[in-house]
Amino acid sequence: MKIKKSIYDELDVPRVINAASTKTRIGGSLIRPEAVEAMSRAAESFVRLSDLQVRAGELISEVTGAEAGYVGSGGAASMTLAAAAAIAGDDLGIMERLPDTEGIPNEIVMPKTHRNGYDHALRAAGATIVDAGNNDNYLGTGSNSTEIWELADAISENTVAIAYMQKLYSAPPLEEVIEVAHDHDIPVIVDAAAEVPPRENLSKFIDMGADMVIFSGGKAIRGPQTTGILAGKQEYIRSAALQHLDMHVAPEVWEPPTELFDKDDLAGVPRQGIGRPLKVGKEELVGLIKALELFIDEDQVQLEAEWNARTDIIEDGLTDIKGVSIERRPGGKLMVAPEVFVTIDPEEAQLDAVELVGSLRKENPRIFVGSDDLLDDAFSINSLCLTDDEAAYIVDRIQHYLC
Ligand SMILES: *Cc1c(COP(=O)(O)O)cnc(C)c1O
Repeated sequence: MKIKKSIYDELDVPRVINAASTKTRIGGSLIRPEAVEAMSRAAESFVRLSDLQVRAGELISEVTGAEAGYVGSGGAASMTLAAAAAIAGDDLGIMERLPDTEGIPNEIVMPKTHRNGYDHALRAAGATIVDAGNNDNYLGTGSNSTEIWELADAISENTVAIAYMQKLYSAPPLEEVIEVAHDHDIPVIVDAAAEVPPRENLSKFIDMGADMVIFSGGKAIRGPQTTGILAGKQEYIRSAALQHLDMHVAPEVWEPPTELFDKDDLAGVPRQGIGRPLKVGKEELVGLIKALELFIDEDQVQLEAEWNARTDIIEDGLTDIKGVSIERRPGGKLMVAPEVFVTIDPEEAQLDAVELVGSLRKENPRIFVGSDDLLDDAFSINSLCLTDDEAAYIVDRIQHYLC
C-alpha cells in the first residue's frame, strides 16, 4: 500500500503519519484548507496588525463571551502574555522592566498538581510560581489532591494571579478557585489549550468567571500552529496588547485602535515589551480568524462519524493478531477523538511495544502512535489526525512487524 507524496518528500525530510493526535512536535493539526487560502490572500497586501488584532478580538469575544480577546503566537505564548498582564497591569514602568520583577509582586499561585512543563511560559514573563498543596494526600492514588484552603493559604500580598490547568479531572473545582481568587482581588489564568472540542468549552470557563483563558489555535481548531487565543477581561487584554504589539511608533501620529487601549490614558509609548518576541503575522491572524469561524460552524456529529469509521478500520485490522489485544476507547472525554488502545504480549508477539513503536517511527514516512503507555507494553492509535487511507496504511505496517 502506497501513501500520497508530500512537500516533505520533495524536501527530503521524512513526513509523519500522525496517529498520536494533536502534538506540536509533529506539526499539531492540519490547518483547514480554507484558512490556508485566506492566509495566502493575507500575504497579498499590508494591514496594521493592531487593526487585525481588534478584528480577531471581536470574533474571540463573540465565541467565548469574554469582554475581549487577543492572539498570541501559540497557546504557550498566550500564557506568557497573560502572566505579563497579571504582573504589569497598566504600569508602563513594569512593562518596560519585565522579566525583571525585583521589588514588585510577581507570584502566581498554582495547585502543585497542576504544575507541568508549560508553566515555564508563565515564568518567562518574570513570574515566580508558588506551589499550593500536595501531590497526593493519600499516597499512591494519583495527582489531584490540592485542596481549596491550601490555595487560599498560598496567596500573599505578592500574588498577582492563580494559574489553573484545565482538564476534565482537574481539582479543586475551577468555580471554587475563582471565588477564592476574586475574594483576594486577583485574576485566574486558565490554561485550556487543548480543551476544545467540545465547542462549549470556548465559553464555559469565561462563564464561570475566569479572568483569562487560553486556547491553542493550532490544535483541534485547526488554525495556524503559531496562534493561541487569549480571551478575558478588557483590562488584561489591554495590558497584553501593550506588551505584545510592535511599538516602534512615531508618537506624534500614533493612533492605536481604541478597542485595545486609549492612547490618552498612557503617559507615553511603552516600547517593545516582553511579548514582542511572540509576534503574530498578518497571515497567521487571518488564518486563525478563518479557522475559528469554521470551527464554530463545524458539524460535530458528522465529524465524529468520520472518526468512528476510521477507528473501525484500525480496530478491524488489528483484531486476531497473535500477541495483540485491543480496546476501543471513545473520544470526547480525555481525548477528543476515539482511539484504539493496543497492548502487546512480548512473548507471544516476539516483539515488545517499545521495539514496535520505535520501528514505526524510523520508517519513511514516520508513523507516530500515542506513546504514553509504552512502559505497560501498550500504545494508542488516535483517529483525529488521520485519513482513512493512512489508518489502513498503519494497520498494514503493524501487521508487517507482527504477523
Ligand atoms: C498544547 C498545550 C499548550 C501549548 O499550546 P501551543 O499552541 O502548542 O503553544 C499549553 N498547555 C497545554 C495544557 C497544552 O496541551
